[in-house]
Amino acid sequence: MARILIVEDEPDLMLSLEEDLRRQGHDTTPAVDGEQGLQLGKEGTWDLILLDVMLPKMDGFDVCSALRRANVVTPIIMLTARAQETEKELGLDSGADDYVTKPFSVRELRARIRAQLRRSDRERERVCRFGDCEVDFNRAELRRGGEPVAITPQELRLLEVFLHQRGRVLSRDQLIDAAWGRGVAITDRAVDTHVFNLRRKIEPVPSEPRFLIGVRGLGYRFDLDESTES
Ligand code: CA
Repeated sequence: MARILIVEDEPDLMLSLEEDLRRQGHDTTPAVDGEQGLQLGKEGTWDLILLDVMLPKMDGFDVCSALRRANVVTPIIMLTARAQETEKELGLDSGADDYVTKPFSVRELRARIRAQLRRSDRERERVCRFGDCEVDFNRAELRRGGEPVAITPQELRLLEVFLHQRGRVLSRDQLIDAAWGRGVAITDRAVDTHVFNLRRKIEPVPSEPRFLIGVRGLGYRFDLDESTES
C-alpha cells in the first residue's frame, strides 16, 4: 500500500484515478490546483505524487520544481496533455521522475506507478550509519560502537522516518502520520517521549542532541553531517 497524492483539476479523471488506485489498495489524497498540490506535497508524507501539468493557480512544472527545492524527494509522475518533447524535457528538468501522456490507459499508469514505487523501495537505504550508530532496518537492529542497543519497533519506525527525510523539519502531526499511521490517536506528548527515548539511544549527549534536533514551534529535524555519512 502506498500513500499517493493526486494533483488533478479534472473531476472525472480525479474520480477514476482515485477509484482505481484505491482498488489497488493504495491510500489516495486529492488536490485540485497547483497551490494545494504544493502545500500538501510539502506537508504530507507520500510514497508517490501524480501531478497534472495544466492546473489552476500554479502549473505542474512549477509545483514540481518547488517541491524539489523544498527537499521533497518523493517520486513524481507528471501527467502531460501532449506528447511534446519540450514538455517531457521540462517535466524531467523540473525534477519529475517520469511522465505519462494523456489520454493514458489505466493499465499503463499502474505499470508506471509500480515501477516508481519499486525504485524508491530499492533506493531506500536498509542500513544507515551516523555518528557511532548503525541501523539495520532489515534486521531491525541498532548498534552503537558495534554493540547492540535495544530498540522498540515503534522507535525503529520513527528513526526510519527521520533518516529518510533528514534535513527536513517534521511536525508532530507529520511524524504521527508517517510513523504510526494517518489518523492514529497519538498525542504530541507521546511523540516527544519517543523522541526523548530515541535520543538516549543514539545521541552522544542526549541532553544536547546533535542528530535529533528540536525546532521550536515546528517539530523535529534529523541533522546528518554529510561527512559522517557512509
Ligand atoms: Ca488539468
